[in-house]
Amino acid sequence: MAKNNLSMTERYRVQPGAKVHLRDVDPDDTGPYRQKDDAKADLERDRDRLFDLQEILYAQAQHSLLIVLQAMDTGGKDGTISHVMGGVNPQGCQVASFKQPTPEELSHDFLWRIHKHTPARGQITIFNRSHYEDVLVVRVHNLVPEPVWRQRYNQINEFEELLADQGGTTILKFFLHISRAEQKERLQARLDDPTKQWKFSTGDLKERAYWDDYTAAYEDALTRCSTKVAPWFVVPADRKWYRNVVVARIIVEALEGLGLRYPEPEPGLDQVVIED
Ligand code: ATP
Ligand code: MG
Repeated sequence: MAKNNLSMTERYRVQPGAKVHLRDVDPDDTGPYRQKDDAKADLERDRDRLFDLQEILYAQAQHSLLIVLQAMDTGGKDGTISHVMGGVNPQGCQVASFKQPTPEELSHDFLWRIHKHTPARGQITIFNRSHYEDVLVVRVHNLVPEPVWRQRYNQINEFEELLADQGGTTILKFFLHISRAEQKERLQARLDDPTKQWKFSTGDLKERAYWDDYTAAYEDALTRCSTKVAPWFVVPADRKWYRNVVVARIIVEALEGLGLRYPEPEPGLDQVVIED
């Protein structure tokens, strides 16, 4: 298929029901671009567009947008947030980061802590990690019995359908796909660069040893939970600049598809005279 004619959305969306094999997706893909400079203007344009669309989303307060970011360690979740969303008005945008659950969170169902952070109408929320951890790290480390995590794929699909149907939420889920070699380079950079050392955690090395198990867990989550209302996108992420361009483009394409409009003004505004 002539993939170059597809929109970024079509190109990287996991079709509902399609089995995902991550080895078939090249993390080093740069799509239609040869190098970073070729993509610069497109990223700038989409960041500007995103700024404008977010303002209308906020003004109209009918729709909301939930962006889910998942990746292997060093996959670029933080960089994506700052480079793609950095220009958006902070009044209309929140980031929720999900770490190891607290005892209180663990004493509820796994979606309890998540639901509290879903976006209100007019808002954009970015999940830096998400409820998918409950079928990823939890599965890889057997933190709950298998029948419990197995049920979660359906529970997640139903939860996301609820958000879409009743919450007016558009859901976009990005798996930032890096290679094992790229992870090694990024971990090494965190070791070597004093400004990155704060990001280094020996725990990341332990998780790296589970690369294949994580890959299998991701493949299942991407396969089972890419739905019409809450699609997954597998984004080539070895090149940070390409990752940013792809994520920005897909978000803009989704918002443009909503037909956002400023709300109707109060009647009679054309008669209003502002006194000196
Ligand atoms: P990140 O790694 O996301 O950039 P960080 O380095 O600041 O953030 P970490 O403590 O390394 O913070 O990452 C959060 C950790 O919490 C990850 O190891 C993740 O797997 C774990 N985690 C998140 N959700 C869950 C969950 N539901 N159950 C168990 N562990 C979880
Ligand atoms: Mg970490």
